[in-house]
Amino acid sequence: MGVFGIIGKEKCNVASSVYYGLYAQQHRGQESAGIVVNDDGLFASFKDSGLVGEVFNNERLSSLGEGNAAIGHCRYGTLGTKGRSNAEPIVVNHVKGRLALATDGRLVNADKLRRELELKGMIFHTSSDAELISYIITGERLTAPSIEEAVNRAMTSLDGGYSLLLMSPRKLIAARDPRGMKPLCYGIRDNGQYVVATESCALDTVGATFIREIDPGEIVVLTKDGVTSIADHCKKEKEALCVFEYVYTARPDSVVAGCPVQEARKRAGALLAKAHPVDADVVVGVPDSGLDAALGYAEESGIPYGIGLIKNKYIGRTFIAPGQDVREDKVKIKLNPVASAVKGKRVVLVDDSIVRGTTSARIVRLLRAAGATEVHLRSSAPPFLNPCYYGTDIDSKEALIANHHTVEEICEIVGADTLGYLRLEDVFKLGESGKCTGYCTACFNGQYPTEIPVKTENKFDKKISESEKSK
Ligand code: AMP
Repeated sequence: MGVFGIIGKEKCNVASSVYYGLYAQQHRGQESAGIVVNDDGLFASFKDSGLVGEVFNNERLSSLGEGNAAIGHCRYGTLGTKGRSNAEPIVVNHVKGRLALATDGRLVNADKLRRELELKGMIFHTSSDAELISYIITGERLTAPSIEEAVNRAMTSLDGGYSLLLMSPRKLIAARDPRGMKPLCYGIRDNGQYVVATESCALDTVGATFIREIDPGEIVVLTKDGVTSIADHCKKEKEALCVFEYVYTARPDSVVAGCPVQEARKRAGALLAKAHPVDADVVVGVPDSGLDAALGYAEESGIPYGIGLIKNKYIGRTFIAPGQDVREDKVKIKLNPVASAVKGKRVVLVDDSIVRGTTSARIVRLLRAAGATEVHLRSSAPPFLNPCYYGTDIDSKEALIANHHTVEEICEIVGADTLGYLRLEDVFKLGESGKCTGYCTACFNGQYPTEIPVKTENKFDKKISESEKSK
């Protein structure tokens, strides 16, 4: 999921800046998008299912009016939280005022916290963590001297991998969980507006200069007059940045924990080439997230890099086949091999990850059909063995191919000549030029930095999404 916020002295068209900030982070979530504009404490908001460009047009953006601050969100639906009702930001009116909240990631103790509130008579309209967190914050605000202190107190009871972006009538508050599992940074524009984003590429997009990343556990308060920080939760836990940000999630032009994502991916490719060398004629990456790793593999191995697969730029990740009679291979609609680049060649095919194995099998088939004489598959992530509870929709253990098959068997299933995965010990080296001191690698080695949630599927949410489906 992606969050974006802006605050400044002057009232202006902040909604359009948020729109561009979300557009830059569309890769982090395609299920829904929303923006809330703050005009002197009056909040105007709109959110809906769909991509940022589908949810907002000029008319919709202007209907939000001008303001001196705004926040926005693009949502990636995870198990138990899909559905329109879970679109963010959430806007809450409480006795001390009003707040809007957008989140990235997931809590692992949401069910327990929700039940505690329900037993006090609280009712929920959604199954999103954002609603739950906003109620906990408003509850704390009853006795806390400020909204940031309410956030600070609320964070004591939250557990999981999350980033928060909250807007009150006068402040933006940006916070990362104590393990720093999700990225979050801020910068400044020439006109003095502060900008907060999940990924630094969104700061670039709106012409903001990157100031710094928010530290794990830190709460940063941004107002029109400046920035302050609360560090009560910092260094309370061992850092556990989601390493999948480097592998797949983040854009290559973002910097995460001080390490450019493209550099991390190229390093993955180079480490892969060292661990799994092969005699071949060309290295081809699977667009988009396999491209930089392929470049790293090519540089390290000395095998030429080639553009052997073209991705249709107009297809989002949510592409839906328009009719049941569409018999074309879905992968072929998205990706087409460049026959002249692979024909008669021994190809090293680099993808960022193998989850169920379906994508790899199809691409290997496409390359062979285009004339590749050999296809050597390389994954720039180690085998996927465990589900993620922190907001990445990695499937159930059963669906993960590496849980049921050996590397040799997977190689045979996907139809490759050889198969090599990034070694687990190498995954810790991806961000080595940055400042991260520890990673969450649970999807690869099962070492979860938090308790595992007892119940991950919410029956209430199931009902909501079923009723929405029938509409
Ligand atoms: P699969 O076909 O199930 O093996 O999926 C592998 C492909 O899914 C790779 O090409 C990845 O780029 C992509 N992928 C990896 N993680 C995710 C994710 N969390 N959501 C969507 N796609 C993903």
